[in-house]
Amino acid sequence: MVTQSADSEASIALVWFRRDLRLFDHAALYHALKEYDQVIPVFVFDPTILTILPRADRRVEFIHASLRALKDELQQAKSDLVIRHANPVTAILELVAEFRASAVYTNRDYEPDAIKRDTEVTAALREQGIALRTFKDQVIFEQDEIVTQANTQLAAQPFPSLQELNFEPAGLADLPVQAGTTGSEALFENFKERIDRYHLNRDFPAVKGPSYLSVHLRFGTLSIRELAAYAWREGSQGAQTWLSELIWREFYQQILWHRPDVVHHAFKQDYDALAFSNDEALFTAWCQGQTGYPMVDAAMRQLNQTGYMHNRLRMITASFLVKDLLVDWRWGERYFAKQLIDFDLASNNGGWQWAASTGCDAQPYFRIFNPVTQSTKFDSDGKFIRRYCPELSALQGKAIHAPWLANQTTLAAAGVTLGVDYPWPIVDHACQRDKALALFKHRGRTP
Ligand code: FAD
Repeated sequence: MVTQSADSEASIALVWFRRDLRLFDHAALYHALKEYDQVIPVFVFDPTILTILPRADRRVEFIHASLRALKDELQQAKSDLVIRHANPVTAILELVAEFRASAVYTNRDYEPDAIKRDTEVTAALREQGIALRTFKDQVIFEQDEIVTQANTQLAAQPFPSLQELNFEPAGLADLPVQAGTTGSEALFENFKERIDRYHLNRDFPAVKGPSYLSVHLRFGTLSIRELAAYAWREGSQGAQTWLSELIWREFYQQILWHRPDVVHHAFKQDYDALAFSNDEALFTAWCQGQTGYPMVDAAMRQLNQTGYMHNRLRMITASFLVKDLLVDWRWGERYFAKQLIDFDLASNNGGWQWAASTGCDAQPYFRIFNPVTQSTKFDSDGKFIRRYCPELSALQGKAIHAPWLANQTTLAAAGVTLGVDYPWPIVDHACQRDKALALFKHRGRTP
């Protein structure tokens, strides 16, 4: 029973919610409820994080809405959520004193800053004779649970059979996304109707193919165990492909845990000092969706307008920034981190390093996406491009993928004047491709 009434005889523990904003299948809450008479749920807003986010940040709104829902749910259970705006070390110490708690329970977070914070909280609590007890919750595998047989390097393949794991979710369940567990349940129910076709549809941004659950996975408004167990049981080709995507998420969490240096450096160290040109005007055009390559521009506008970008488009835009515009992947990573509602340090860094060919199990550097071919293949009738680049919507046929190749009559008929309504391409793909190949080939050496 979750309760907030302090009684002098009772043993009391705090449960500190962070990226696990739900009550069902919640490891720390489960253990605290089992081991203590009274459990006080708490959440701490760290004001230093809030000052680095833009004032109207989608993620802050998502957290607020999810916390409101969590608080309501707890109140219905005759409990409550105690929310503090303070430095986490100070806040947790104060809460422990206020509620006379003898332990703090929480789920582990594997980001380097979070590890640093938890180390500080552990030390401060220890001085009071109180333990910070942490649990695995946001991943299926953590820390050293997955390494190669040689125990040396991680690989995407060696994840053991999920069948051997005991998944027992404890119970209960188009963007902009509805927050909280109600939001995640509605999305997941909808996705269950489509999961069997996931492998067929997931690459086409104009089609409702993926689950759109990433923001819920980020803030723990659903249980990864419940998702994995469902996909495992479902077993169709679509479900298996989706499960393998959940495993990519696990993989990148493991990389971050074992190699926290990837936050600033290439996973493959000889790719760390690539001499990118870093042209600021090209970077700005990319950020604004004004590169003259419609698929890239539509994708960047989707990101800017909604805070979400389809996975295929994340790969295309990341490859374009690094290998067509020759801009350091870290610039793009930072921009995504600012814009994405589902921003997750491990997956974002992993995705960028994959596309930039600097990461573990990454795209080889000589595989360079052609943005026009990608567009023709994955948005063949230009439906997605038309949604986000309305100035091109009247273009017919192939012209939607490469307007600069269309003749004057086609452009005039669609009311498009290049350089006025829509930009000329800011770079020539074939020429930039050669430069990228030379850059990567001679990495660390003067060509
Ligand atoms: P679905 O296709 O329904 O997949 C289900 C879940 O599996 C996702 O929610 C996600 O948790 C996980 N997943 C799927 N693909 C990947 C992947 N390639 N890597 C890691 N996890 C994956 N994902 C984030 O959650 N946060 C990020 O900040 C992020 N940044 C990315 C940056 C780049 C450059 C790239 C190439 C990929 C990035 N991804 C990121 C991975 C992926 O694009 C998103 O997880 C996915 O598009 C989210 O949509 P969905 O929930 O509908 O995915």
